Amino acid sequence: MTKKNNTKLTKLIKYYSLINYNLFFSKESVNRYKANKFIISGDKDLLLQRLSSSIKNIKNCELKKNATNQVFSDGNPNSSIMIVGEGPGSNEDEEGIPFVGRAGTLLDKMLESINLGRNNIYITNVVNYRPPENRRPTEEEITKYLPYLIKHIEIINPKILILLGSTALNTIIGNENVISDVRGKWYEKNIGKCKTSVIATFHPAFLMRQPSQKKMAWADLKMIRKKISELKIKID
Ligand code: URA
Repeated sequence: MTKKNNTKLTKLIKYYSLINYNLFFSKESVNRYKANKFIISGDKDLLLQRLSSSIKNIKNCELKKNATNQVFSDGNPNSSIMIVGEGPGSNEDEEGIPFVGRAGTLLDKMLESINLGRNNIYITNVVNYRPPENRRPTEEEITKYLPYLIKHIEIINPKILILLGSTALNTIIGNENVISDVRGKWYEKNIGKCKTSVIATFHPAFLMRQPSQKKMAWADLKMIRKKISELKIKID
């Protein structure tokens, strides 16, 4: 190998070890919290890693068989604000990170409008593998993933839980609820060992199809902003 090529290779290796050495060898998703972006209090980090591994070990799951990557979470595990979406789409499946596609861009704008960003919220989905053709996860799939979602909520222990869309709403609050009736109201809920204030709002993918509903979503966002201040949640 020439000296020039050698230097190039050394630089490349250095670069890959900076961004994540494993990318060289594996198609596995990289959860951002694992990259030590946040100093995670107590044993949360370990609990989250264990949870992610148990989800990887779920048996007989059609979703997992068809997916490229596990999509576990994004954002700050120390946050008191947790968001639950439905399930990964194709961009998320490719990157292993929730809400990185068009719906994610709108979600980021919605959060930004109340001074929130991925550094001060934590986000996951009802199911952690992409449903083929972006279909809604089936009842059976939702039931299979529910204990893991509850555990996830217990570990993060948020003061505010935001449910995006009817799948998250039905999973956490119950199948009898319709998003247009339930949105914009606070519910005090015990989810596993976590006691939290829950609000449901429209899913950003729905808002892209029905932009006239954005004013409702804005009303919900303002309620969230007010709750953050009432609960004295610190936003860095
Ligand atoms: N829609 C979801 O519900 N979750 C994602 O991660 C992306 C799109």
